[in-house]
Amino acid sequence: MTNVYLHTSGCAHNFADSEQMAGLLKQAGFDLVNTLEDAFVVIFNTCTVKGPSETTFFRRLESVKQKYPHKIVVVAGCIAQCDPNKVNRYPLVGTNQIHKIVEVVEEALHDNQIHLLDSDEMPPLNLPRVRRTPYISIIPISSGCLGACSFCKTKIARGNLVSYPLGNIRKEAEQAIKEGVKEIWLTSQDTGCYGFDIDTNLARLLKELVSLIGNFKIRVGMMNPNHVLMFKKELFEVYKNPKIYQFMHIPVQSGSDDILRKMGRNYTARDFRSLVEEIKLYFPSMTLATDVIVGFPGETEEQYRDTQSLIRAVMPDIINISRFWPRPKTPAAKLKPVLGETIKHRSRILTDIYHNIARMCNERWLGWEGEVLINEKGKEANQWIGRNDSYKPVVVEGNLKLSQIIRVKINRVTSFDLRGTVA
Ligand code: SF4
Repeated sequence: MTNVYLHTSGCAHNFADSEQMAGLLKQAGFDLVNTLEDAFVVIFNTCTVKGPSETTFFRRLESVKQKYPHKIVVVAGCIAQCDPNKVNRYPLVGTNQIHKIVEVVEEALHDNQIHLLDSDEMPPLNLPRVRRTPYISIIPISSGCLGACSFCKTKIARGNLVSYPLGNIRKEAEQAIKEGVKEIWLTSQDTGCYGFDIDTNLARLLKELVSLIGNFKIRVGMMNPNHVLMFKKELFEVYKNPKIYQFMHIPVQSGSDDILRKMGRNYTARDFRSLVEEIKLYFPSMTLATDVIVGFPGETEEQYRDTQSLIRAVMPDIINISRFWPRPKTPAAKLKPVLGETIKHRSRILTDIYHNIARMCNERWLGWEGEVLINEKGKEANQWIGRNDSYKPVVVEGNLKLSQIIRVKINRVTSFDLRGTVA
């Protein structure tokens, strides 16, 4: 049968899409291979969030064309959806058409290039899957969002919010638990607005999922502060359940209200700060992750310092720092950019501040003893990475295996993880 190689870049939602495309192809009798060289059909599931990820994709595409002109290349994901003209010489699968991947590949094998980019329908949730990690199930709970952030190209790819019915997500999770899954990752562009279009919300979904029988943990994906504020009491209530990792990823993007307004983010720095203060009051061991964009057009030194002060005040465990990158077709791309050197300088300083804060956050765990779920192989031989209830990465050595639950004692930390020994 035909060998297919699937290359995925981008967010958890894209990886969930690839797992489902792989499941459908396998079910249709295709052989999935792990290298591009061994494949006759190469599928790129692409990401458009930042310039560099797009540049890398086009470089890779060019090299495949040069080296292997006989191979069939299919382009899926956000670049196919946003910029079909840039890749229209290839068969295309849009972000909401992943359930038709077999049709696209079979047509391509008969030399017929089809473009399926309709975004009105949603792919069904219960598609067959080939999981990247056998015991982690990535479940997209909705597609699109309610935002209109001026810097964001994902909006063009994923569109407006469409939530999957709560029952469908419950069924998908139940099936995954039956198949031995230990971690369920709920993902979308903004899990915070899940269900707003179908008269429900994330807290009610979580309540449904924690009632499922089984030994598993739920990791909740990124949620925007303005939506969390709308149902925070309900959310805090269900977050007390031990099946939910004490982990929240709430992007702030800037500490300056002027910049937040220009970004089209519907909250203030004060809103974000008081939300985080409340979270830390209710959940002292919550791991908080956030995102910051440095060098948004027009960002003054003072506004940049507002971001620094907010970060110092809220002390997040994880900060995904991005340098502003003008994305074509977005309003922010038309604005006068900040000098590249200034952006680089600001991002370097903020990164140093982040590393110090992250280390201080991790030092709170020195001497902690408790259980972790081994969910990753470490870099060194005999080294493993587990996650504790706060989704903190714990590096430990031993004769261990994936999805094992072990007891550890923390005796060292870095800015990025905890280091422990088997207790
Ligand atoms: S919420 Fe904003 S940043 Fe997130 S996907 Fe929507 S438009 Fe993009």
